Amino acid sequence: MKRWLVVFLVLLLSSCSDKPNMERQAKTLNVLATTSIVGDLVKSVGGEAVNVTVLMGAGVDPHLYKASAGDINRMYEASLIFYSGLHLEGKMADVLEKLSSRVKTYAVTDGIDKKVLLRPAEFEGNYDPHVWFDVKLWAGTVEYVSNVLCEIDPVNATLYKKNATLYVERLNTLDEYVKTKTKELPTERRVLITAHDAFNYFGKAYGYEVKGLQGISTVAEAGTADVQGLADFITERKIPAIFVETSVPTRFVEALQEAVKARGFGVKIGGSLYSDALGTPGSTADTYETMIRHNIDTIVKALSHGN
Ligand SMILES: [Zn+2]
Repeated sequence: MKRWLVVFLVLLLSSCSDKPNMERQAKTLNVLATTSIVGDLVKSVGGEAVNVTVLMGAGVDPHLYKASAGDINRMYEASLIFYSGLHLEGKMADVLEKLSSRVKTYAVTDGIDKKVLLRPAEFEGNYDPHVWFDVKLWAGTVEYVSNVLCEIDPVNATLYKKNATLYVERLNTLDEYVKTKTKELPTERRVLITAHDAFNYFGKAYGYEVKGLQGISTVAEAGTADVQGLADFITERKIPAIFVETSVPTRFVEALQEAVKARGFGVKIGGSLYSDALGTPGSTADTYETMIRHNIDTIVKALSHGN
């Protein structure tokens, strides 16, 4: 009798806890985002109407990321997938291609006019994918995401459109913040040297000379010639600081610092920038907006002092 009662109670409890979940699933759209930056964009537009799963967490390099079997299952289970595109997720192109016959997949950078994209010669004719560093350019992806969500989930269209409008306003404020902070730096100090070439859009939008130790993608490692060439540049121009990135190993930037030291000049590591991944939840860079603020604050502070 007692055992029967326990079984009954367990069934009762499980049915109670299942019910709200089922209701939530019926109302929310299960969206998968490849990078944390794309995930934050979708959350900002989708709000409470979407449930976003992010594949690549803090510190993960999207250029090198390969989808695991578990990732592929999660991707098949999603209602739709947003990815960054422009070959950022270089090792996932085949997986995304295969998935597209079963799950709707969208590259958020399709929302940006190709005419304004950078196409560096050394990236084999491809576009530079790091568009989020020009805040105005990244704002172009907001309407695209909103349009996709409205089409798939028209019931919540009003919410998506409202969120998108508010978010673009916030991004305009953010863009102004980067410009205002930059003014604190004398023009000759606006030289940004980082672990990989992620900041070309940033440089173009906000007036910085930008150099990366590794190329646009991190697939090719920095060679001795890259280190020596950049060490000459830093010494000649008396650049006060260079920067590591949270999603790229620090050893190449440290080697660069050593090479500068060997030339009788001292360059400091000015801090850690978030380039292709947000920070861990609760950190000072766990959203796109806080990441951009962290980066510009770090850059301006480090380049303002010394040498
Ligand atoms: Zn990158």
